[in-house]
Amino acid sequence: MTILNSLMAGLSDGSIRVIDLTNKLSPSTPTLRLPEPFENLIDFSLDEVSAYNDPGPFWKHHNIHTGEHIGTHLDAPIHWISGREGHDVSSIPVERLMGPAVVIDVSEQVDENPDFLLETDDVTAWEAEYGPLPENGWLLLRTGWDRYSQDQEAFLNADETGSHTPGISAEAALWLATETKLSGVGVETVGIDAGRGAELDPPFPVHYHFLGNDKYGITSLQNLDQLPPTGAMLVVAPLPITGGTGSPIRVLALVENA
Ligand code: MN
Repeated sequence: MTILNSLMAGLSDGSIRVIDLTNKLSPSTPTLRLPEPFENLIDFSLDEVSAYNDPGPFWKHHNIHTGEHIGTHLDAPIHWISGREGHDVSSIPVERLMGPAVVIDVSEQVDENPDFLLETDDVTAWEAEYGPLPENGWLLLRTGWDRYSQDQEAFLNADETGSHTPGISAEAALWLATETKLSGVGVETVGIDAGRGAELDPPFPVHYHFLGNDKYGITSLQNLDQLPPTGAMLVVAPLPITGGTGSPIRVLALVENA
C-alpha cells in the first residue's frame, strides 16, 4: 500500500481520527480589543443577499464581513513590522502549513497564574522527555484557555491593568524562533502573545521574533487536550488573501488511535 493509501484507509476505518481545533465563526466569537488610540478590526458577520426569495429564488447566499485576525486565525510574517519584507498569507509555502504538532501542557501552571509565561527551560525539560521540537512542526501551547472561548469577557480576562492571559516569555520566543526549525506556534488565547505582552522587551515578542524569522502563529485553538504530546499531524488552512496579513483558518489535527 502506498503511504497515501494507508492514510486514507486509516481515515476510513477510524484508526486515524480528525480533530477540529477551530472555534466557530460568528458575530460573538471572542476577538482582540486594542486599547485607545489603536484601531480595532471588525468582528465577523454574515449579510444575507438572498434566501430562496426574489433576490435569488432558488438559492441562499451571504456576504461575509470580517477582519483578518478574527477567531481561530493565522498570523503571516507581514503582520508584524519585523516581518514586513516576508510572506503575505497567500505566499506562505503550503508545505509549511502541514506538519507534526507537539503539545506542551502548562494548564496546571495557568490555573495558578493566568499571566504564566513559558520559558526556554520549560521547553528543554519537555524535549528531555519527548525529544527535539520537530522540523516543519507546530508547537502548541496547551493552557486550558479554550474553556473561555465562547465568552468574550472571560477570554480576554482584562482589568484596569490590562489583559491577563498566558503566553511565552521574550527570551523563549527568541530561542524558539531562531534556534528551532518549527513552522510556527499555536495558542488557545486570542493572540500569540500573552495578555501583558506589551510590557515585555521587545513588546509582543512572539509576534516580533516568530514573524520576523519566517515563522507563523495560530490562535484561538480548541481541543488541544485531545492531542498526544507528540505524534499528531496538523493541517492549517488559511484563505490565500493576496497581500493579507492573516486569515481565519480551519485547523485540523490527525491523530492515530492507540
Ligand atoms: Mn493575529
